[in-house]
Amino acid sequence: ARADIVQVVSSYLPLTKRGQRYWGLCPFHNEKTASFSVSGDMNLYHCFGCKAGGNVVQFVMEMERMTFPEALAHLAKQLHMPLPELTMNPEAQQEATRRERLYALNREAAAYYHANLWTAKGETALAYLRKRGVDDSTIRRFGLGVSADEWTDLCDHLRAQGYQDDELVEAGIVRDREGRRYDAFRGRLMFPIQNMYGNVLGFGARALGNDNPKYLNTGDTPVFNKRYNLYATNLLRRQRDLKQLFLVEGYMDVIALSQHGIQGAVATLGTSLTQEQARLMKRLAPTVWIAYDGDEAGQAATERAIDILEAEQMNVRVLRFPDNLDPDDMLRQRGVDAFRAVRPISSLAFKLERMERGYDLTGEEGRTEFAKAAAVLLKNVADPVVLENHLKALAIKTGFSRDVLLAQVGVRQRPQAGPINVRVRHAPNRPTREATDDSAAEKTLLTLSALGYLPEGMIVEEDFEVPLYRETARKLMDGMRPPQILSEAETPEDVSILSEIFSKELDLGREDALVAAEDCLRVLHRRHIDKRLTALRAQMESAQGEERQRVLSEIMTLSKKIAQAQGGWTNGKDVM
Ligand SMILES: [Zn+2]
Repeated sequence: ARADIVQVVSSYLPLTKRGQRYWGLCPFHNEKTASFSVSGDMNLYHCFGCKAGGNVVQFVMEMERMTFPEALAHLAKQLHMPLPELTMNPEAQQEATRRERLYALNREAAAYYHANLWTAKGETALAYLRKRGVDDSTIRRFGLGVSADEWTDLCDHLRAQGYQDDELVEAGIVRDREGRRYDAFRGRLMFPIQNMYGNVLGFGARALGNDNPKYLNTGDTPVFNKRYNLYATNLLRRQRDLKQLFLVEGYMDVIALSQHGIQGAVATLGTSLTQEQARLMKRLAPTVWIAYDGDEAGQAATERAIDILEAEQMNVRVLRFPDNLDPDDMLRQRGVDAFRAVRPISSLAFKLERMERGYDLTGEEGRTEFAKAAAVLLKNVADPVVLENHLKALAIKTGFSRDVLLAQVGVRQRPQAGPINVRVRHAPNRPTREATDDSAAEKTLLTLSALGYLPEGMIVEEDFEVPLYRETARKLMDGMRPPQILSEAETPEDVSILSEIFSKELDLGREDALVAAEDCLRVLHRRHIDKRLTALRAQMESAQGEERQRVLSEIMTLSKKIAQAQGGWTNGKDVM
């Protein structure tokens, strides 16, 4: 027997059986209505609210913040369960080995940089850290280090450890110029970037002199994608009760907060905040306080970050420090008590204040325009008390009465209902309805195939256009089970998309399932024909003689096919 996901999840949260699935309150986001589903036959879980999903091992990795091997051992020992069957095909096995080797290589590089710090090579870097008030235990906690100001210092070290040059280049820590290999980072303070599970993915590197650019980061590699990771999430591992995060701009800000005993600081990796990072943050804590730099760039970035985080339904507040200090300066110049004394403002108050600065409130025209613009922002406020407060403040600033401003705000939108996708389990999506959308048709076919409804040979790889779906179809046809497919997924995004596909509940008997599959295939074939027709018509413009005849006859054949299919549709079931 293998580790049964229903049994494992039940040991963490109560589940109720409804239909073919078990349902519970999602452990990864705050909710009052159960949208977390566990499927025994698929051996996987998916939350229709926050899109978290995966197989039994991935569930334990998330809950316990463990690495893959740790989670396997945990299942075996703590829960007295034999290891789940998650054997990979040789190709996937090879890929997994390659990734493991890159992790090991990065870890070795991080250890080497760190060791350098305490030698003569690290003098400048250590002096810099001391000047910034970073003590030894913080240096160790973050694994900070230094790259020597030499061309092949790290390269030589890693070669001596048995790593091949192409691996060093693939990991992004060694560059290749016409066969000459040299260290990518030289004479820089090194910040190892780890994922939540403690694997070293790459590095941030700060110049110690006046080198440009001031900060360098490892480029994207097979194990590192800046979109999906945040700095310092490894320190938040196992902190299941974390209430709140601080989103700061720089690595040194994260380190300063940690140095002063403030937990939960994270930073993006040299790029602006992405939706994927917002989702990662939501899994760590429900609330985030943004503490970006006080300059215009930092404040504009704050505004963008608010929109991204609120789109993921996070509670967002903004911290602003006196004299436009950044968090690191604030802590060093004013101390931790002054830092903690600063109260955050709501994201709406932040936006209103920023907006206000764009208008000249000494003139009537400026006041009128500001009142109108502010009213647009206030339309989205669902809480009457909050709205009232803003109206009063706005009345003082603009000179318009509260009632006039309220009229300008107009009919407020209804407060949003709970997670949109909760509906799914009450009224399962009819695949025939979804089949109007090409990629929805592909998804439905995958769901039906995973449920074992489709006879051998009914679908082929070529029916699928989206690369992820095509690959998944191939794996299903190869006899691979959903949990295994999830464990081979390349990104957390893919895991989320696939677990949703495999968790979709279709209230269909075998007969109806076949009809639904045929509908989907018809949509996909029609798409295929349309594309071919477009290509042929383009060809017609220049085609001559015999070729023209051939193209014309293919166009006619395809057009006839479409006509027949449409006849079939009108006579058959209602497809739309
Ligand atoms: Zn959830």
